[in-house]
Amino acid sequence: MSPSDKSPSSQSQHLKRQWEQLHDDVVSCERCDRLIKHCRNVAIEKRAAYRDHDYWGKPVPSFGTPAKILVVGLAPGAHGANRTGRMFTGDRSGDWLYRAMFNNGLANQPESTGRADGLKLTGCVVTNVCCCAPPDNKPATEEIANCQPFFQRTIELCQPKVFVALGGLAWRAVVRHAVEQNQLINPSPRPKFGHGALAELTEGRWLLGCYHPSQQNTFTGRLTEPMIDAVFKDACRLAGRPRKHK
Ligand code: SF4
Repeated sequence: MSPSDKSPSSQSQHLKRQWEQLHDDVVSCERCDRLIKHCRNVAIEKRAAYRDHDYWGKPVPSFGTPAKILVVGLAPGAHGANRTGRMFTGDRSGDWLYRAMFNNGLANQPESTGRADGLKLTGCVVTNVCCCAPPDNKPATEEIANCQPFFQRTIELCQPKVFVALGGLAWRAVVRHAVEQNQLINPSPRPKFGHGALAELTEGRWLLGCYHPSQQNTFTGRLTEPMIDAVFKDACRLAGRPRKHK
């Protein structure tokens, strides 16, 4: 974009191109040898129930277009996003997440089964701090660091007003980014993760904590549907989105 061409439509075209470039860069990334091998192996071996599925088997980019609520998870599920190619899609975690987002007007439907299922997000983006499915759902510190530039570019392009961190690791990644950018209002002591925890960022922006909708949390009742719904209701309020009337 030339300096003289700063009309809203050319700026949005520029943002769109940068977003697409980020998407392509993530999908073609091979920086973490262990994770790339794991994603491919899972895609070859497959789970019996998905024997006939054509697995994605590579890094998974963010879902949605730049928006003011950024939902941050940990990493793609081996037989969820690593199979379908879309964040939180095709597994139980995604069922919980998108149902809560739908209930709060952030998604057009509660189901998330595959890239062609018609799901569209409004006013929010879903991303992960690690874009590749890790063995045992545990990315190494070094792998998260490798993926950090993608996370950073996602934040820069979205300029979120509200971060919703799904789990402590996502919370710490956002806190780390905010500290580096000098954007945390009370940096010491570092804000602690909790369900419904809130940390204030500069310029009226917020970080909101939510237990991860993993089966470990949802099966045990640590996270219930009203609990996750309440977090997204709060996120909408903090982002200044109009209340959804059901
Ligand atoms: S985790 Fe991130 S940095 Fe590592 S290979 Fe995947 S996309 Fe690349």
